[in-house]
Amino acid sequence: MSFIAPQKLRIDPVHSCHKFHTTVDVLRLDLVHPLVSGNKWFKLKYYLEDAAQQQKKIIASYGGAWSNHIHALAAACNSFGFQSIGIIRGERSETLSPTLQDAEAMGMKLYFLSREEYRIKKIPSDLANEFDPDEIYFIPEGGYGNLGARGASEILTRVETKSYTHILCAVGTGTTLAGLIRTNNGTQELIGISVLKNNHSIEEEISSLLPIELRHRYKIFHDYHFGGYAKCNNELLRFMKEWERETAIPLDFVYTAKLFYAVSDLLQKNYFPENSKILLIHTGGLQGNRGLHGSN
Ligand SMILES: *Cc1c(COP(=O)(O)O)cnc(C)c1O
Repeated sequence: MSFIAPQKLRIDPVHSCHKFHTTVDVLRLDLVHPLVSGNKWFKLKYYLEDAAQQQKKIIASYGGAWSNHIHALAAACNSFGFQSIGIIRGERSETLSPTLQDAEAMGMKLYFLSREEYRIKKIPSDLANEFDPDEIYFIPEGGYGNLGARGASEILTRVETKSYTHILCAVGTGTTLAGLIRTNNGTQELIGISVLKNNHSIEEEISSLLPIELRHRYKIFHDYHFGGYAKCNNELLRFMKEWERETAIPLDFVYTAKLFYAVSDLLQKNYFPENSKILLIHTGGLQGNRGLHGSN
C-alpha cells in the first residue's frame, strides 16, 4: 500500500524573531496534503497499513464535530479504498458542521453518541446493527497510540532538523510529540504546548508511548490553553491576525495559534538562550477554523 510520501517538507523562516537573537523556523506540515492535513498524515499512515495487513476494509474512529482527525481519516480512507466510520461526540445536529459535511461527502458514515456514551467509547447500537464490529479496524480517538507515534517519528527525518536546539509542537493526545521525541538527537529540547486545560495526565500518556530511556526527555507547558480545548479569546484572535500579517503563515485557533502564541511569549520572557535555533512544527488543522464562528 502506498501512502505516498511528500517529496520534501518545507521550512519557512520567521524574520520578525531575529530581534530576540534566535532563529525561528516553521516546518510546514500544513502543506503536506490538501485533505489529510499536517500531523494527521503521519499519524494515520501505520494505522492504515495495519488495517490493510489485517485485511480489514472498514476503519472507524472517534472524534468531535470539528475534529481534524475525523476529517483526515475520511480523506485518507477515501483515497485508499477503505469504508470509513466516524463515531461523533454529541447528538446529531440538524445541520452538520462543515467538517462532518466534508467527511460524509468523502464517504464516511457517521454515528453519534451522547457525551456520556462517548466518554466510555461505546460502539453505537445502530452501527453494531449495520456492521459486524469484528470486521472493523478501530483507531483510537485522535490517533493516540504507538502506530501513530511511529508515523510521527518520521516527521523530523524528512528534512534536515539536526541543527535545531529547540523543537516545539502543539499537544492534544501527545502522539505527535512522542514521535518527535523518538527521533530527536538527544541534545535538542522538545517542548509541547498543551491545548487542553489541566491535562496533567498528558505526561504519563506521552511517556507510555516512549521507551524508558526517552521518558522525561521533554517538557509540557500547561499555561497556553486559553480556557481549554477549542476555546479562544480576543487576545488569541488578535495574535493570529498579527502573526498572519507578518509571516503569511496561516494558523488554526485550536492548536497552532496557541503554540505560536506560546513561543512568542517565551521569546519575550527570554526563555530561549541567545543563538537558539528553534523549529516550530505547524501541524495543520486549518479546516477547523470554520468552527471559529460556529456553534460549537
Ligand atoms: C490533532 C492535532 C494536533 C495534536 O496532535 P496530537 O498528536 O494529538 O498531540 C496538533 N495540531 C493540529 C493542527 C492537529 O490537528
